[in-house]
Amino acid sequence: MSSAAHRPTFWIVQANHRVRAASFAGAFLMMASHLYGRPQGGLVWALLALHLLIYPHLLYALASRSAKPLKVEYQALLFEPALMGAWVAWLGYPLWIAFAVLLGSLISIALYQGPVGAARAAISIVVGALAVMALHGFTFTPDTHLLTTALAMSSLGIYLLLVAEAARQRGLKLRNAREALRQKEQALQRQLHANQSLQQQLLEQANRDALTGLFNRRYLDATMLRELARCQRESQPLSLLVLDIDRFKQVNDHHGHPAGDEVLRQVAQVLAAGARQSDVVCRYGGEEYVVLLPNMTGHTAQVRAEAYRAAVQALPIPFGPDTLHVTLSIGVATFPQHGQTAQALIQQADAALYQAKERGRNRVVVARQSG
Ligand code: GH3
Ligand code: MG
Ligand code: MG
Repeated sequence: MSSAAHRPTFWIVQANHRVRAASFAGAFLMMASHLYGRPQGGLVWALLALHLLIYPHLLYALASRSAKPLKVEYQALLFEPALMGAWVAWLGYPLWIAFAVLLGSLISIALYQGPVGAARAAISIVVGALAVMALHGFTFTPDTHLLTTALAMSSLGIYLLLVAEAARQRGLKLRNAREALRQKEQALQRQLHANQSLQQQLLEQANRDALTGLFNRRYLDATMLRELARCQRESQPLSLLVLDIDRFKQVNDHHGHPAGDEVLRQVAQVLAAGARQSDVVCRYGGEEYVVLLPNMTGHTAQVRAEAYRAAVQALPIPFGPDTLHVTLSIGVATFPQHGQTAQALIQQADAALYQAKERGRNRVVVARQSG
């Protein structure tokens, strides 16, 4: 296979060659049958054979070697009708031959260049015919033998069938190309979707604590600023709980670090289960959690904190042969009465937490009025 065969448009040249070689051979047969038995010089036979039998293959060889095979094709399509017109004029306009040859020429061009191409081909035909009449004079012998008529009819019929087949092949190739394109696009879409969900996953991971699955401090810091600003704008309260596991170090010391991890996970589950959709439950670090409660008054927050405290106190945490129990100390602070900024609110809740530890742990303390 030549390298030209790999060019995307080359199959058009190949298909044209097949149609041209076959239809020109048909034209040769009908013209030869028309000429047969008449006193003709060898030159006419040689020209006829050169044009109709050899030229299609020469053109194919030329187009295959050209960098622009389609351009060679189009140029050939322009002067070919002139030659056909010349033959028809020279033969004296035999009707069946003229009909078959000229209709075939017009269709060949109309297929590629539409009505404008067909008009150009018609002009080309007339120019060819006029040239022959100028040299040879006008003769008009429209009748053909039965054999020639039959050859003209069958040649034209075969030509039309070949053109139909070439058009079908072209449609098939187009459909295949479109399907391949569609599949590529789908694969691209799938890839894009996978990238997006991976990105989403990474973003999610960046906001989560790996051990408990709760939000992390980074996420809380960003969210708290936003939520506080919103509550300020809407004149809504916002409460904050800081929760610390009591004597957690002892859990690690007595039962091992993995037991401590299990306690952290179980307490996290209790906090998440008791939260509203809009609450932000996060592991603030170590054995300390923060729960952000937008649009919640200090009183309701205190009730929530008490519920958390009671739930954790009542929570049995199985670990190996042991069942562990822990308690929570909780500090509560509320915007606007305990502070105007995120930092002030956390400080107030932390101070309340410290008070809870001071007063014996396993309790809820609300920040002192300030703000
Ligand atoms: P207090 O009641 O005053 O809060 O006492 P505490 O023992 O809970 O407080 P302390 O701050 O002394 O101890 C916290 C311990 O938490 C120390 C640290 O080893 C442990 N810790 C921090 N992060 C993790 C963790 O991810 N897993 C485990 N198992 N332990 C952790
Ligand atoms: Mg602690
Ligand atoms: Mg602590």
